[in-house]
Amino acid sequence: MSYTLLDGKALSATIRAELKRTVAALPSPPHLVVFLSHPHHSSTIYVRNKLIACKEVGIATTLIDTPCTTTEELLRLIRPHAHRADVNGLLVQFPLHPDVDQRHIIEAIPPEKDVDGAHPLNMGKLAMQDPSGFIPCTPLGIQTLLSAHHIPTRGKHVVIIGRSLTVGKPLALLLSQTGPHADATVTLANRSTPDLVSLCRTADIIVAAAGRARLITADMVREGAVVIDVGINRIEIEGKERLVGDVDFATVSPHCSAITPVPGGVGPMTIASLLSNIVKSYKARS
Ligand code: NAD
Repeated sequence: MSYTLLDGKALSATIRAELKRTVAALPSPPHLVVFLSHPHHSSTIYVRNKLIACKEVGIATTLIDTPCTTTEELLRLIRPHAHRADVNGLLVQFPLHPDVDQRHIIEAIPPEKDVDGAHPLNMGKLAMQDPSGFIPCTPLGIQTLLSAHHIPTRGKHVVIIGRSLTVGKPLALLLSQTGPHADATVTLANRSTPDLVSLCRTADIIVAAAGRARLITADMVREGAVVIDVGINRIEIEGKERLVGDVDFATVSPHCSAITPVPGGVGPMTIASLLSNIVKSYKARS
């Protein structure tokens, strides 16, 4: 079967170009403050990519790059920026130091500047289909990618593997709500789900967000299914570090009607959604 490659990089470029025009017409640039409090290799790269993307569309950024090992230390960094009128978005890069209370930090961000959509109020708004909230960037990016490729979700069975608060749970809420690009029947799988192979074979759309390299193999995918690979795993192949998803692309792709690559699929869509959320925050306050 020939498949459509769901090219997140190309779609993200189109969205960014539109956002650039929108931002240029605003009276002042939107402004994002990013906190990198527990730097390690991946976080530093993710933050750098987000800052570059902001700059490209004309969003101003401030990076607070200060290691924190306690909740109070990080709260002290966040508080002075939280209610600044010239700040439209606050983003705390995860993971945090293990001694820092993630929930406490998320709740310290004013919900109207929570462009990552992590605050409980925004999660609640998502559950209640209140459009004034912020939808977490990766689920929003996945929905945008599906809709741009005219992949129907209404009445379809979507199996999401991984129930994190950043990806699996909000995506399940988003795709199971009423309205366009939703109305799906969603199954949210986790490590304790028995017989993942049989479950996945009942899926019209599989979303792999477990963080396990090559978890999804050809025997799990029925002919013509759509496969969305969220995973980002660094593994060593022939002595070199490589970035791979949760899907064994080479063996799975021939069975799909559409599939995302890694890299270049969900990742760029996550960043495009972050930029959209920042512009939305700016517009809501002005
Ligand atoms: P997480 O690491 O917080 O949780 C993983 C989830 O997967 C858990 O719910 C766990 O129960 C489930 N899981 C793990 N192994 C499983 C198995 N064998 N069978 C069934 N379920 C299993 O999840 P996360 O933060 O959502 O990250 C998941 C992956 O997605 C990681 O690789 C991460 O780097 C990547 N990610 C990518 C983007 C992007 O923009 N592309 C964004 C966020 C996360």
